Amino acid sequence: MNLIFLGAPGAGKGTQAEVVCKELNIPAISTGNMLREAVKNGTPAGLAAKAYMDRGDLVPDEVVIGILKDRIAEDDAKNGFILDGFPRTVAQAEALEKMGVNIDKVVEIHVPDEAITARMSGRRVCEGCGNSYHIQYKPTKVEGICDACGAKVVQRVDDKPETVISRLKTYHEKTAPLKDFYAAKGKLVTVEGQDEISETSKLTLAAIKG
Ligand code: AMP
Repeated sequence: MNLIFLGAPGAGKGTQAEVVCKELNIPAISTGNMLREAVKNGTPAGLAAKAYMDRGDLVPDEVVIGILKDRIAEDDAKNGFILDGFPRTVAQAEALEKMGVNIDKVVEIHVPDEAITARMSGRRVCEGCGNSYHIQYKPTKVEGICDACGAKVVQRVDDKPETVISRLKTYHEKTAPLKDFYAAKGKLVTVEGQDEISETSKLTLAAIKG
């Protein structure tokens, strides 16, 4: 099953992708995590992406499409995958079609902008494996340490309030049009993001299976 999780930054795509990928036994593929890894390792893609990411702008389509294409060609993605944070533009969605990828469902996790800005200040991410946490809704067992890999858990530079506002604007301008793109193909399902992560997971799994 090939799925796309769509939604504003901070809506919970990454968190839900981590839950659902275990249920369905398919990998969750986050272009944001891959880009952060590339920046950390100083690869050419990382060098090209860093300034855009720090500002909260989208990385150019050709950079992200290249990374994604290589990733979904890997063995573990043969039986399906969840795309978290890709596509983010209509051009990226069209590139996916050109690659011959058939998408089964697009799950939009909807959270109002006001709730997003409130949530983002508590969000944390693992420097090692990219797992996501929240100081209130999904705390680590040991403060500041990732439950999964033991690496340090930090706040993302692009989770600063002013960058979050710019990322939300970018989401509405460039990514929200994908809702119409996939609704026209009969593939869009919308889930209302809940405060309780497990509640959103129930709704998300029901939307995928329904
Ligand atoms: P995320 O972790 O999904 O919030 O992504 C973090 C940042 O990586 C975004 O603000 C963008 O700068 C960049 N990024 C991630 N995915 C994409 C994408 N599909 N297209 C363009 N930029 C992306």
